[in-house]
Amino acid sequence: EIIGADVRLDQLPLREDLRGRSPYGAPQLDVPVRLNTNENPYPPPPELIEDVARAARAAAETLHRYPDRDAVELRTALAAYLSTATGAGLGTANLWAANGSNEILQQILQAFGGPGRTALGFEPSYSMHPIIAAGTRTDWLPAPRRADFTLDPDAAATAIAERAPDVVFLTSPNNPTGGSIPAADLRRLIEAAPGIVVVDEAYAEFSARESAIGLLAEFGGKLIVTRTMSKAFAFAGGRLGYLAAAPAVVDALLLVRLPYHLSTLTQAAATAALRHAEGTLDSVHKLIAERERVVESLAGMGFRVVPSDANFVLFGQFADAPAAWKSYVDRGVLIRDVGIAGHLRVTIGTPAENDAFLAASKEIFVEVT
Ligand code: PMP
Repeated sequence: EIIGADVRLDQLPLREDLRGRSPYGAPQLDVPVRLNTNENPYPPPPELIEDVARAARAAAETLHRYPDRDAVELRTALAAYLSTATGAGLGTANLWAANGSNEILQQILQAFGGPGRTALGFEPSYSMHPIIAAGTRTDWLPAPRRADFTLDPDAAATAIAERAPDVVFLTSPNNPTGGSIPAADLRRLIEAAPGIVVVDEAYAEFSARESAIGLLAEFGGKLIVTRTMSKAFAFAGGRLGYLAAAPAVVDALLLVRLPYHLSTLTQAAATAALRHAEGTLDSVHKLIAERERVVESLAGMGFRVVPSDANFVLFGQFADAPAAWKSYVDRGVLIRDVGIAGHLRVTIGTPAENDAFLAASKEIFVEVT
């Protein structure tokens, strides 16, 4: 007997605009092979685990005090990592951090979106962009991609110029389709935008393309590049996302962030994890090689595979994607039905996990394509 179980959601005085909506929900099923949320399949290396444990031990001694509200040490470490990775000379003032890049995106829309304002994205893309827009009461303007899921730069620039959104989301590499935006197109889209442009680079470490961070010096008044430690950094459970932008953008986010939003433990653990960036990012090369192997194997079986430079691959064509998804689960392999007709998305795992996925794919191809 659960206290309050007789109260239904539709009986609550919920905001009208939230009624009937569904929450974000990647199923968390307990199956042997989990390739559904684009995590890094390799656990953190032992020396990182030691270092995080030591840092947490030291942080525990100060837990009676609030954390550093501005997370200066962590932001300094993130600036150093990004500057090395991209060649940009970023400082602490260019960086901001929060509990996952989802929280970063929410803070961006709290500051630059909101009631009476609009945000535009090119769909299909990351499903949380419109959900965070809804939560912040920012009107969502969906714009299309080509049938092959690439961005048509002419059509995209026109859509941005005509609809004049307060915020544009460009996801590169794009989740769930995997492709990224060429630098020349990116520049053109930023130029077309009248307001803020968020380039969501959650999967940047897996891509050979240049980061938008190189454009910050030129477009500091409008460009925000978001990143995360959840993917390449193998730190999804640590919840640490960040952005690079002009310092004034960080000042804007200080107006909406909750005080002490990043716990002492999170800051300590993330800073310690960053000291091992090189070791963690070793896995990126393995995952890219495995991605190429998975793509070739799927294509060899007769699947159509969407080109990806992320750590996942969108593939089809299924006659009934939800039924195919279920067939994978029945074989102990959890992948993702992202709601694109005829397609499913698989995260690149360890070689053994990918083998299990490919073995299941071979059987399922005959069954349901
Ligand atoms: N952006 C994109 C494109 C993503 O795919 C994800 C994770 N699925 C995120 C942002 C958010 O990740 P996190 O909050 O873990 O940083």
